[in-house]
Amino acid sequence: MSAAPRTVVGLDLGGTQVKGGFVLEGEDGKPDLDQTLSRVVAIDTNLDAGADDLLDRLAGFARELGSDGPLGLGVPGVFEEPGGRLLRSANLKALEGLDLGAELARRLDLPREHVCVDNDANVATYGEQWLGAGAGIQDLIMLTLGTGIGSGLVINGHLYKGPTGKAAEVGHMVVRSLPVNGTEDPYLRCGCGAYGCLERLASASAAIHRAQAAGLETDLGKLCGLARAQSGPERELLFEIGFDLGAGLLATTAALDVTCYVIGGGFGRSLDLLEPGIRAALAERDYGHAPPRLLPATLGASAGWIGAARMALDSLG
Ligand SMILES: [Zn+2]
Repeated sequence: MSAAPRTVVGLDLGGTQVKGGFVLEGEDGKPDLDQTLSRVVAIDTNLDAGADDLLDRLAGFARELGSDGPLGLGVPGVFEEPGGRLLRSANLKALEGLDLGAELARRLDLPREHVCVDNDANVATYGEQWLGAGAGIQDLIMLTLGTGIGSGLVINGHLYKGPTGKAAEVGHMVVRSLPVNGTEDPYLRCGCGAYGCLERLASASAAIHRAQAAGLETDLGKLCGLARAQSGPERELLFEIGFDLGAGLLATTAALDVTCYVIGGGFGRSLDLLEPGIRAALAERDYGHAPPRLLPATLGASAGWIGAARMALDSLG
């Protein structure tokens, strides 16, 4: 006798939009992909009316998507682990201090353990490893190159978050240290307080800053178009950014023996232009590591809600 198909809902809460969809698990226990990827919808985040209003609307959105089962939610921010309270979120300050999982479980009349809330980079990584570029790959790190650099780590098919939920923050790995008594480049002082973090060198924002400093086109799409069309200063800049990114991957590989990196985010779509620099940096060390695979993310903006839905599915055991 086969069990009834199970439906879980995933939501990805962004600063301006909440994307959502449901995953229908087929009778074979695998997700029904046609159903999964064809039913994506979104609502506005809009925190003007306060946290309670947004939580009510999130619960309503989940119900509309057909959830009377588990729910997963991705949120850009730092969580207290264990516990799950949102400690910090630059774009969703009104939600700070709340246990979003408990709030939504109460509104949806679900057991607390069936509402899974996690950092947006973690859920995106979990989504790509499940149904995207990393499908079938058991060990990988995903980097999302956007305003900052988000990252998530999957070991043996499971998301690894560390004892306090902050493992694999590759974006805050220091790759350009300040020389003793040296002069700081103020831009390289990261929001986290440290100097020379990877995200101050190789995120989309950093790329724009570096293009501006070099007197080049500051529209990233146009900059990459020029770099793709011909060799010149644009292509050279993307090589240099790739080289810094490669320095981050070199350190990460040394720590974790990573064999596969999935690169996502808006700027990640230019992986072809970054890869020569990344490879050049990786080639500097000969320690017996095989060159890691570098895969462009394939789920785009859907990675987050899909990964959140998978967490919800996991909660069923
Ligand atoms: Zn940092």
